[in-house]
Amino acid sequence: MVRVLRAAILASLLPVFCVPAAKAETVRDGLDQPSFKWTHWNEVKLIDIKRRAQLSASNWTRTVALDALIAAYPDHLSRRGPNGLIWRDGTTMPFDDGRGAKDFATLLNAPDLEDQFYTPYRKGKGGMPPGYNEDPGRVRYEPFFRKMYGDCSKGEVSRKLAAVAWLPKSGGGTVRFTTVNGAAAQLRKVSDELESLGRSYLKYLRPTAGTYNCRMIAGTKRYSPHAYGIAIDLNVKYADYWRWAKPGADGRYPFRNRIPLEVVAVFEKHGFIWGGKWYHYDTMHFEYRPELLIAPAKKAESHP
Ligand SMILES: [Zn+2]
Repeated sequence: MVRVLRAAILASLLPVFCVPAAKAETVRDGLDQPSFKWTHWNEVKLIDIKRRAQLSASNWTRTVALDALIAAYPDHLSRRGPNGLIWRDGTTMPFDDGRGAKDFATLLNAPDLEDQFYTPYRKGKGGMPPGYNEDPGRVRYEPFFRKMYGDCSKGEVSRKLAAVAWLPKSGGGTVRFTTVNGAAAQLRKVSDELESLGRSYLKYLRPTAGTYNCRMIAGTKRYSPHAYGIAIDLNVKYADYWRWAKPGADGRYPFRNRIPLEVVAVFEKHGFIWGGKWYHYDTMHFEYRPELLIAPAKKAESHP
């Protein structure tokens, strides 16, 4: 911001005769298109500077988001490229589909990788209760998940599942979870730590309401994260779900939750996000999405 202000002041003060007309250096904003040339600096208007600020902000978001994805899924993802995310198999997946701002329904139904980060996921007591239409993690670019975890309708997901003993000392039975990205191993750590919380928590944790299920999200044509083997639902008896609620007089869903935050903290520690941090809440739902837990930390350390 300071840089932008300085540029604005300089642009307004710089007399025309000072402009090095012979020097046609291109100022790049980090994206692929030059935004203006030094030769035309005297013609730069405030709107150009504002646009540059926006571009730098979106470029910064892109860097943080792509780095978080690469850190979260190193088995699959290689590096940031000029046109998006580069996978280890050489595939480039665009970060931004160039469609600009989207309304909420479009965000859910036709997102790109960038849209997955449209609102930050906050750990612990943060993000409670969720703001209107703040559903961090609920926007999923399906080609990204399908490429990593497989297409369940073709049997590609089920063959990568492992059996995880859920709360083995407390009779939680066995659940199936994907081994891709080490998700099943992370769920075992969650289980061990939840058992050590004490017996008073067990009622929330078992019986589970399911993990892998090749199905769409209720009321949509989008695959549920359960279809990739990356989600677990706890005891439905203590679940609150926005679709079961009636909107208030203002048309909004009042937030409800009975799941203790101690349980949430254990999941978050091991890379899982919680559906209780969504305006469209689903409080029994936990999902392996380490990139969303990494992104805020990366953002904090890299903020200009
Ligand atoms: Zn669920």
